Amino acid sequence: MSESELDRLRHPDEARATIFRHLRPMPVERAPLAEAVGRILAEDLAATEDHPPFPAATMDGFAVVADDGSPWREVIGEQTAGFVLDAEVTPGTAVRITTGAPVPRGADAVVKVEATEPAEDHVIILQEDVAEGENIRRVGADLRRGDVVLRRGARLGPAELGLAAGLGVSPVPVARRPRVSILSTGDELVEPGQPVGPGQIHDANRFSLIGAVREAGAEIVWSGKAPDDRDALRQLLIERIAASDVILTSGGVSMGELDLIKPLLGELATVHFRRVFMKPGKPFNFATAGDALLFGLPGNPVSALVGFEVFIRPALLASMAATRIDRPRAPATLLQEAAPTDRIEFQRGVVSVSADGRLVARTTGVQASSRLASFHGANALLIIPPRETTYQAGEVVQAMLLAPPLGPEHG
Ligand code: AMP
Ligand code: MG
Repeated sequence: MSESELDRLRHPDEARATIFRHLRPMPVERAPLAEAVGRILAEDLAATEDHPPFPAATMDGFAVVADDGSPWREVIGEQTAGFVLDAEVTPGTAVRITTGAPVPRGADAVVKVEATEPAEDHVIILQEDVAEGENIRRVGADLRRGDVVLRRGARLGPAELGLAAGLGVSPVPVARRPRVSILSTGDELVEPGQPVGPGQIHDANRFSLIGAVREAGAEIVWSGKAPDDRDALRQLLIERIAASDVILTSGGVSMGELDLIKPLLGELATVHFRRVFMKPGKPFNFATAGDALLFGLPGNPVSALVGFEVFIRPALLASMAATRIDRPRAPATLLQEAAPTDRIEFQRGVVSVSADGRLVARTTGVQASSRLASFHGANALLIIPPRETTYQAGEVVQAMLLAPPLGPEHG
C-alpha cells in the first residue's frame, strides 16, 4: 500500500471492517465454573434431562389426594428433599413434605402447612377446595430435555453460571481470552508511585488500557513502558508479537522525529491503515504480524481510550465470538450546545432519563484529548457528526452507552 493510501482518512465503519477482516477466532477451552464469570460461552448448552426431573413440592405442607372428601388424614410418613420415600398416598392419608422434595406416589396435591392443623399422627386440612396439581412443580416445568438454555456467545454472568451449574455442566466451554500486551511509549513517562522530574509525566495510558482490556474480558499477558529508543522498542515489539494475540501501544504515532512506533510497525508488520476520520483519535495505526493484531494508539490519554472503545473492545469481543460486541446506542437530546466539528466526534457525556422518560445528554466539560478527567463520570460517548454550525440544545444525537443511563434524579 502506498504511503498516501495508508494515510487516507478512513471512516470509522471502514476502519472497523478492516480490523474485523483480520480477527482470529479464539479457540475453545474449558474453565472451572467458579472461575468463569465474564467469560464468553463457546458452545450451546442444552438440558440433558427435564427440570425438575421429578414432581416437586413448591411449599412446605402435606402431600395428599386432592379430591378425597374428608379433612382428616392419617400422616404416613415424611418426605424431605434429597431422597425418595417409599410410600404411597391414598385417600385418607397424607405425607408431610418440604419444599423441593419429590411428591410421593399417589399424591396429586400439596396443601401448604398454613392451611392445615397438624398433629402427631394426623393432619386436618382447613382449606376448602384442594385442586389437583396444587403446589406441585410438574416434571419439566422449568426446562424440557433438549431445550437450549444458553447460547454460544453469551457472556457468563451470575444467572448464566447458575444455569450452567443447574445443567450439571462443569467445566464450562468458553472462548480463550485474547492475550494482550500493552506498551506505553515516551521518554517523558514515569511509573506511578515514583516522583516526576522536570518535563516528565506519569504513565496514565497503560493503566486505563489495562482496565479497559480486563473489562472487555481479555487477558493481559504483559504490560510495560519504554523510552523513545528505536532499538529498545524494536526488540520489545518483536518479543510481544511472538507472545500475544493483540498488542496495544500508545504514543509515537504522530509526525515527530521521535514518533517511532509508526515506522516500526511498517518494518515489523503489515500496516492496514494509519488514520481515522474521528476526533479524538485520528492517528490510529492498525497492523498485523503473523497471528498478532497490533493497534498503535495515540499518546493523548483520551484519544487512546476512545480508540479502544470504538475499535478494540468490539474486536476483542468479536474474536471470542461474543453475541453482544457493541455498546448499545440510543438517541439522546442535548441539554447544551456543542461546537461545530470537522470529523466524527466522540464527546464524553452523561446520559440520563428525564422526568418525561426521554434520554438527555450533557458533556463532561472541556473535551481536550489530553484531559482524561473528561472520561471520569461519563457513561456515554456522544457521537457528533461533522457539521459547520453549532449543535443547539434540544438537538438529538446518538449516544454510545458505556454504562446504563442515570435516573431522572441525577439529570
Ligand atoms: P505522542 O502520541 O507520543 O506524541 O503523545 C501525545 C501526548 O500524549 C503527549 O503530550 C504525551 O506526553 C502524552 N502521552 C503519551 N503517552 C502517554 C501516557 N502513557 N500517559 C499519559 N500521557 C501520555
Ligand atoms: Mg511520544
